Amino acid sequence: MKLIILGAPGSGKGTSATVLREEFSLAHISTGDIFRANIKGNTPLGIEAKSYIDKGQLVPDSLTISMVEDRLNQDDCAKGYILDGFPRTIAQAEALDEMLSKKNTGIDAVLSIVVDDEEIKARVAGRRVCEKCGASYNVNFKPTKVENVCDLCGGKVYQRDDDKPETVEARLKTYYKNTQPLIDFYDKKGLIVEGDNNKDSQICIDQIKEGLKAKGLI
Ligand code: ADP
Ligand code: ZN
Repeated sequence: MKLIILGAPGSGKGTSATVLREEFSLAHISTGDIFRANIKGNTPLGIEAKSYIDKGQLVPDSLTISMVEDRLNQDDCAKGYILDGFPRTIAQAEALDEMLSKKNTGIDAVLSIVVDDEEIKARVAGRRVCEKCGASYNVNFKPTKVENVCDLCGGKVYQRDDDKPETVEARLKTYYKNTQPLIDFYDKKGLIVEGDNNKDSQICIDQIKEGLKAKGLI
């Protein structure tokens, strides 16, 4: 099964992707995570990406597309995957179509995670992430048991630079301008499966699974 997960920053798409990855044994390809790993490793890609990410802007399509193409060619993707954070522009979506049609394949469904605007802002401002295992917390809604220590692995929990309030506004603007049009793009292809993540992530996951069942994918 080849899935895309779409949603605003802070909509919980990373969390939903993690649950679905486990349940359906999919490779989880998060472009944000790949960029952050490159930034941590000080690679040329990381250095270039950081200058955009810190401003809440998108990394240029050319860099992002070739990075994803490399990743999709790795062996673990053969069992199916969930793309988290890609595509984020129509140009990226068209490039993905082209990449996959060269392999005579295509995306099976696009999961759209829906959350109200005000809720998004509150969630992103409070979000904290484990630097070791990537687990996600929220100082307002889902705090760690011990302050700044991951419940799962004991790693240090921190606030991403791009979750600082001054960057969040810019990221949301970028999302509405560049990424939201993708919902229409994929709706026209009949691929959208919606999950409402305003209340409970379990409700969201259940809706998504119902949608995948209705499409005969699970
Ligand atoms: P979120 O979805 O919470 O904004 P991500 O971890 O997915 O966070 O992405 C963090 C940042 O990495 C984005 O704000 C953007 O600058 C960059 N990025 C991630 N994926 C892409 C992409 N497909 N195209 C361009 N930039 C990207
Ligand atoms: Zn952890």
